[in-house]
Amino acid sequence: MQWVKRTFHTMIYEIGLVGLGAANSLLLLEMERKELLSDHAVLVLEPDTKLANDKTFCFWANPDSDIVRQLKDLISHSWNVVETKEGKQSLENMRYYMIESVALYNRTRELLKSRRNITHVRTTLEDLGAHSSFIELTTSENKYQVKKVYDSRALLPKEIIATPVLQSFQGWRVTFDKDICVPNEMRLMDFSIPQNDATQFMYLLPTTKNQALIEMTRFDRTVLTEELARQHLKNYIRAMGCGYTINHTERGVIPMSQHGENHHRDARVISMGSRAGKIKSTTGYAFKSMFEHAQELVQDQNPPRFTGLSIAQRLPNRFVLYDFLLLYILKFRPNWGKEIFERLFQKQPAHEVFEFLEERSTFRWEVQMFAKLPIFKFLWSVLFSTISYVFSAPQRALPLLVGSCVLLLNYFSPGSGNAAGLSVLLAMLFIVGIPHGALDGYITQRRSKLLPFVLRYLTMMLLVILLWTALPLAGLVTFICYSAWHFGETDLKEWGLSSTFLSALWGALLLGVILISHTQEMNTVFLQMDVPILDLAPETVVLVTRGLILVSIILGLWLRSVPWLISIIAIMVGTQLSLALSFGLYFVLQHSVTGWKHLKISQEWTNKSMWIRSLPFSCGAVVLFLLVFQFDKNSLLEWSSHFLVFLSALSLPHIYFMSRFYQKT
Ligand SMILES: Cc1cc2nc3c(=O)[nH]c(=O)nc-3n(C[C@H](O)[C@H](O)[C@H](O)COP(=O)(O)OP(=O)(O)OC[C@H]3O[C@@H](n4cnc5c(N)ncnc54)[C@H](O)[C@@H]3O)c2cc1C
Repeated sequence: MQWVKRTFHTMIYEIGLVGLGAANSLLLLEMERKELLSDHAVLVLEPDTKLANDKTFCFWANPDSDIVRQLKDLISHSWNVVETKEGKQSLENMRYYMIESVALYNRTRELLKSRRNITHVRTTLEDLGAHSSFIELTTSENKYQVKKVYDSRALLPKEIIATPVLQSFQGWRVTFDKDICVPNEMRLMDFSIPQNDATQFMYLLPTTKNQALIEMTRFDRTVLTEELARQHLKNYIRAMGCGYTINHTERGVIPMSQHGENHHRDARVISMGSRAGKIKSTTGYAFKSMFEHAQELVQDQNPPRFTGLSIAQRLPNRFVLYDFLLLYILKFRPNWGKEIFERLFQKQPAHEVFEFLEERSTFRWEVQMFAKLPIFKFLWSVLFSTISYVFSAPQRALPLLVGSCVLLLNYFSPGSGNAAGLSVLLAMLFIVGIPHGALDGYITQRRSKLLPFVLRYLTMMLLVILLWTALPLAGLVTFICYSAWHFGETDLKEWGLSSTFLSALWGALLLGVILISHTQEMNTVFLQMDVPILDLAPETVVLVTRGLILVSIILGLWLRSVPWLISIIAIMVGTQLSLALSFGLYFVLQHSVTGWKHLKISQEWTNKSMWIRSLPFSCGAVVLFLLVFQFDKNSLLEWSSHFLVFLSALSLPHIYFMSRFYQKT
C-alpha cells in the first residue's frame, strides 16, 4: 500500500476550478469581465501546461452577438460563404468563426499571472467530497477547502444502448504551392470522399489564399486511424491540383454521447463543458454553448444549495429525441449518414441548418425539414431503437409485460394467470430478488471483517423486530417509509434523475398506489398484527388511487421520463391483481433487476460470479425465511404478519448498505 503525505490547507477558497480547458477558461474570462474575480480567493487545479494548440474551436454566430464581441481578439479567422455540391451559399446574417485553443489558454494564463488572489496548482484532482461548510478537493499532495467548485473533468461516456459512436478527426494545417483558396469561402461536411462503411467527410477552412485547415472527420464506433486519415487527406488535396506542405497536425476523438452530468447532487459543485453535456452529441460542437453556460453561471452567482427540483430545468426536449434517432442510425447504419447530412444541407439554407443544430429552430421548420430527409431511415430508427431500448434494460418493460399477460390469462381462464404470475415471481425472487439483497452485504463486507459486519446486520434486524414487537404500528409505518425511500432511490438512479426529493416522492407514490389500491387485503394483514386497519370506503380507495396515479403521470410527463411513465402504467396494471402479485411485479421484476444491474456494472461482475458470491448470503436468507415459516406455514399465501416482519427486518440493513453504495457511486 502506498502512503501519501498530504498537507491540509486551512484557508477556504471561494471558488475552485477543476481543469482549465475551454469551459473553465471561458468562465474565468466571463468572471473577469463582470469584475467578480477581485473579491474572491480562487483555486485552479490543472495538470497540463496548456502551451500547445491542441484544438481549433469553430462556431457560427451573428457578428453582433456577445460571443463575437467579447472574444474578437481571440478569433483568428471567419467565413461567410459556404461551398456545397450545389454551389456557393451565403451564410446571411451569420459567420463561421475560428479560435485556436492556444490563444484562449494564453489569455487565461495572462489573467492568472495578473491576479494574486488566484492560486494555480499544476496537479490532478483525485477526489471531491462535500462537507457542510465546504467542498474538499483532494490531490496527491494536498487537501483544499472550497466553497463552490466548477468541475470540468471529462466523464466516461455512458450510453443507453450499446457503446457510443465516436467522432474522430484529423486535421492538417497546410500551405499550398499555389493560391487556390478564397479566404472567405469554406467547405463544411464535404462528403465527396469514400465512406469506408462509416460516415466520413471533410472540412476545408482556408485562412489565406494558399493556407488552410483541412480536416477529415469520421462518425463510427471505430476511431479514424492515422493511416486512413492521411490517405484521404492526401487524395483530397491531390484532387485540388496542387502541392502542399503540412505545418501542423491535429487529432481528436469526441464520444458522441448524450450522457452528461447536468447537475451534481450538491449544488455547490457545478459541472462544466463536456462533463455538463455541453458537447452536442450529433455534431461535436460545444464552444458556443460553453460560452453561454459561463454567462448564465456568472449571472446566477447564488444557485440554491441543494438542487432539488431544479433538475427540471435541464429536461430532455425534442432535440434530444432527434439526436437519439440520428445517433442510433450512425451507430448501426453508419453508411446512411452521408445521405442524411447531404440532404440536410442541400435542401435548406445553411444558416437555417445552423439554427436547427443550435436547437433554436421552430417545430414547423423541423417538420418541413424532416419531410425532405429520408424519412424511412428515421422510422427504422424509431422502431429498432425502441426495441433495443426495451431489451437493453428488461426491467423497464418486464413488469408491464408480465402483468398484462397475467391479466390476459385470467380473462380467458380465471385464476390461471395468477398462478402463472406467482410462479414467475417466485422463480425470479430466487434468481435475482434474494441474491440482489445478499450482494449489498458482499460489497460492504469486502471492506470490513465478516464478524463485525454480520453483527451490524443482525443488530439492525433485531432493532426492527423489537420495534414491531413493541409498537406494531410504528414498525409498519417505518417499514413503509424506508422501503419507499429505497425504491425511489434505486429507480431514480436508474433513470438518471438522482434527486433526494424526487426519490422520496416517487417511492411514496408507487407504494401508495400499490398499497391503497389493495386496502382490503392490507387490512387482513393488519388485523393479524394488531395494527389499526385503514377504514376507507371503496369509493375513497378508488379516488385516492386514481389521484396518486394522476399525480405520478403528470410528474412523469413533466420530467419527460419514459421509464417513469412505463413504470406507472405497470403499477396501474398491478391494481387489477392481488397485492402479492402487484407488489411482486414491481419488487422482483423492476426493483431487484435494477439493483442487480447496478451492482453488476459498478463491480464489473458477471451474472454467474454474482450468483456464486451471493450464495452464502442467499442461503442465510433462505434459512431465516424457512425458520419464519416454521411459525406460520401459510404465511406466503396469506401475506402473514411473520413474513412481513421478517421482510422488514431483512430490508433495513439492505437499504442502509445500498444507500451508502449509491452515495459513493
Ligand atoms: C480536437 C477537438 C476539436 C474540437 N473542435 C471543436 C470545435 O471546432 N467547435 C466546438 O464547438 N467544439 C469543438 N470541440 C469540442 C469541445 O469544444 C472541446 O472538447 C472542449 O475542449 C471541451 O471543453 P472542456 O473544458 O469540457 O474540456 P477540456 O478543454 O478538455 O478541459 C478539461 C481540462 O480538465 C483537465 N483535467 C482533466 N482531469 C483533471 C483532474 N482530475 N484534475 C484537474 N484537471 C483535470 C484537463 O487537463 C483539461 O485541461 C473539439 C474537441 C476536440 C477534442
